[in-house]
Amino acid sequence: MSATVIDGRAFAAKVREQVGEHVTRLKEAHGITPGLAVVLVGEDPASEVYVRSKGKMTLEVGMKSVEHKLSAQTGQQELLDLIDALNNDPEIHGILVQLPLPDHLDEDLVINSIAPAKDVDGFHVSNVGLLGTGQKSMVPCTPLGCLMMLRAHHGSLSGMNAVVIGRSNIVGKPMAQLLLGDSCTVTIAHSRTKDLPEVVRRADIVVAAVGRPEMVPGDWIKPGATVIDVGINRIERDGKKKLVGDADYDSCAAVAGAITPVPGGVGPMTIACLLANTVTACCRANGLEEPEGLTA
Ligand code: NAD
Repeated sequence: MSATVIDGRAFAAKVREQVGEHVTRLKEAHGITPGLAVVLVGEDPASEVYVRSKGKMTLEVGMKSVEHKLSAQTGQQELLDLIDALNNDPEIHGILVQLPLPDHLDEDLVINSIAPAKDVDGFHVSNVGLLGTGQKSMVPCTPLGCLMMLRAHHGSLSGMNAVVIGRSNIVGKPMAQLLLGDSCTVTIAHSRTKDLPEVVRRADIVVAAVGRPEMVPGDWIKPGATVIDVGINRIERDGKKKLVGDADYDSCAAVAGAITPVPGGVGPMTIACLLANTVTACCRANGLEEPEGLTA
């Protein structure tokens, strides 16, 4: 069997198009422009690349983009004051603080100071609690993107066995909640899981979110299963730098029914979902109907 490749780039382009159409409607019918503020503390080169591409795509869909670049020495209170100002700015509907933050800053305190309604990353404890209890929330972008692709590929996910490898707060745990919300039978596997290959072999859906290059080989995959590869790992092979996922692509693709490639799978969906969350937040803030299919 050769797996269907789930094309995250094409899917993300469609999501951005849908977001763009909704932004145009908000402007024309209500005179509202959704606004996203991104806060970057320090000079981490990878974070700078992410922030730049987030800003560019925010503008491309017609939204307002605001970037706050602060020095690595920024104090806790200065950052909290900026977030407070953004919380109270009516032109800003989404706030994202780029992680990781420098060590002297308290990440939990900073994230939990963002107004939950503007928390487009979905990391605030209120949003975590709302998601966990099946209520309307802001949903973390990466798992939301995975869910959208799974729904598009399978239609209903009801009754499927899903194994999420990784239990982080930003990917593994919210992914498991979303799959549970769609009535999957969910197992969360992690670094202490016993006999991981056997656990993964039971899965109709495997979501790999570990950060270990090509750790999932094809012989762990049930024939026909769907593999969603969240991992982004930079390796060097044959003297060339390369991006690979947590799944060993060739051997998994030979057995799976469908698979997301790295790059070009989950990655592009993450930014598209950030834009989707911002337009959703803007609609909610203004008591307007939300775009369909852009949230969980
Ligand atoms: P993390 O380091 O916070 O969590 C990794 C998880 O993997 C942990 O819960 C740990 O228990 C588990 N783990 C570690 N070793 C394991 C093993 N041998 N077997 C089973 N489980 C093991 O990482 P994260 O932030 O969740 O990110 C995971 C990966 O996803 C990384 O490669 C990251 O770069 C990538 N990522 C991609 C996107 C995207 O947009 N595509 C977004 C976020 C994260």
